[in-house]
Amino acid sequence: MPSVKGPHRPPRLSQPLRWLLLLLLPLGLVAIMWQAAQVAREQALQTLVREAENELRLSAAGLEGHLTRHDYLPQLLASREMVQRFLLNQGQQDPMPLNLLLDQFRATADVSDVYLLDADANTLAASNWHRPNTFIGQNYAFRSYYQDAIEGGRGRFYGLGVQSLERGYYFSAPVWLDDTAPDARPSGVMVIKILLDAVEESWAEQDAVLLVTDKDDIVFMASHPELRMSALHPLSEEERQALLATRRYADEPLSPSGIEIYEQRPDGSRLVRFDQGPLTEGNHLALTRHMDAYGWDMHILKPLGSVYQAQWLAAALAGGLYSVVVLAGGVGWQRLRLRRERELFAERERQTLASARDELERNVQLRTRDLLETNRLLSDEIEERRRAEENLRQTRDELIQAAKLAVLGQLAAGINHELNQPLAAIRAYAENARAFLERQRIDAVDANLAQVVELTERMAEISAQLRQFSRKSDSSLTAVSVQACFDYALRLYQNRLRDVEVERCWEEEVWVYADLVRLEQVLVNLIGNALQAMAETQAPRLVLRVETEAGEVRISVADTGPGIPETHLSRIFEPFFTTKSPGSGLGLGLSISARIINDLGGSIEATNLAGAGARFTITLPQEKRPDGSQPSPTEEQRSHA
Ligand code: ADP
Repeated sequence: MPSVKGPHRPPRLSQPLRWLLLLLLPLGLVAIMWQAAQVAREQALQTLVREAENELRLSAAGLEGHLTRHDYLPQLLASREMVQRFLLNQGQQDPMPLNLLLDQFRATADVSDVYLLDADANTLAASNWHRPNTFIGQNYAFRSYYQDAIEGGRGRFYGLGVQSLERGYYFSAPVWLDDTAPDARPSGVMVIKILLDAVEESWAEQDAVLLVTDKDDIVFMASHPELRMSALHPLSEEERQALLATRRYADEPLSPSGIEIYEQRPDGSRLVRFDQGPLTEGNHLALTRHMDAYGWDMHILKPLGSVYQAQWLAAALAGGLYSVVVLAGGVGWQRLRLRRERELFAERERQTLASARDELERNVQLRTRDLLETNRLLSDEIEERRRAEENLRQTRDELIQAAKLAVLGQLAAGINHELNQPLAAIRAYAENARAFLERQRIDAVDANLAQVVELTERMAEISAQLRQFSRKSDSSLTAVSVQACFDYALRLYQNRLRDVEVERCWEEEVWVYADLVRLEQVLVNLIGNALQAMAETQAPRLVLRVETEAGEVRISVADTGPGIPETHLSRIFEPFFTTKSPGSGLGLGLSISARIINDLGGSIEATNLAGAGARFTITLPQEKRPDGSQPSPTEEQRSHA
């Protein structure tokens, strides 16, 4: 069988490859989600860093602005005449007017405290003169703002207040009584203290932690109160002692803030977490900005919540996208496989159909050959049969003709008589004519010759009847008059019927569809048999009857002979059954008559009559005359002639 080129087999994954794919798909999912999370984290961190930088810059600027706003105030006060005069007349003047002035100035400038130190750092006057913990009388020689100012410079200091323990920022300026002498020492120091709480309060509104640390990493200011006065890195004992000595932070424990850097980023930012305190909940991005003018560092800590959110979102999105792609890939792959499988199936179907069709065609060819062969055999058989039938028909025709000739033989004696009689008469008339001719009796000669002519005509008629009877049938069926057939048959027996009474029983002419020659032969047979049977009968009588009933014609020939013995009745239609002496009958007449009537679709039967004699009855279907009218007997006779 020729191989048919079909579509390729649908691609199938081998088992190990499938396992590998099953392992790789989740790995791929994890990798994609991780990678997406990383990218999103980096971007979110960068955004956060930018935000933090801005906020930090603004916050630092705000703080610096707040501080510098008060920078000039001590100097402004130091130049006041009242202050200078008070210092000049130290101990002799009532400090109250100055106290009031300072308090008034405090209220106007919105600062925490304003106070005046003498050259030995004793407080002479203060805005809080009326408070229980007033600065008046306190000595601040240990403070750097005093030391810087008494040296002639401007002092700045931050730390906890000795009395109030509040965090404050101190600005100081020297008070000169005579600022023209180059080596003169300042007579006092004017100090202004501001609080930093208001600045911190403004920070609290931001979504970030803001810290200000000094050079020792002590958190001096913080948006979250818990972080204030804590150390960014744990202090060594020496550092702690050194700080205690400055009294900057009084006796604050300066405990560690708990902050821990867990990632240092290339852009300078850091990721931090707290292992204690209020911010242990979440991690933060930390940025630092150095405030040069104060020697401080300002830190901003932005919570990483948004980064984590972006990270998760990106991971989820990437995971979803990956799943969709993998799913779509899987579905596409399956569809491809399905389509290939369908094509393969269709191809197989096609091949099966094609082979089935080939098989069918082969079978059809085989069967056709068989059929043709059978057909040929059948045709041969039919031809054979046709030939056999033809032979049979010929044989039968010949037989019928033979039977007819036998009847003719039987007729011969009568015919002989029929012919001899006119022949003798002709001879007599001829001799008479010769005698009259000798006597010159021409009219008598003529009369005798006329008789001769008439007699020869009669002889010719007899000869014609015999010729008519002996003719062969051409087997053609036509409408035939029964009465005309009877007339013809009777004419054949004209001579023998002289002593027989013939009774014709019919009313009108009746027609049957028959072979004229054959029907005549049958009637001749029946009449011949009847005449033979009545050979010894006294007053023989032949009764011919034609009747019609319900579309059928019954034709009967009855005689007054001895009838047929009961034992013979069943056998008389057998071929060669005869009771007659050899030469008188062949025993074929009735069997051939029965065959002829059968061929015409009718039947024939024999019965004995009550008194004596036999009756033969033929039954045939009635036929209308072809032109629908009744033919006249003369017409029919003419056709016989
Ligand atoms: P065949 O006349 O040569 O004998 P058929 O076949 O015509 O042959 O007749 C068969 C026999 O039937 C006759 O031999 C005769 O015995 C009997 N048969 C026929 N017609 C009559 C009849 N009309 N009366 C008595 N017997 C008859």
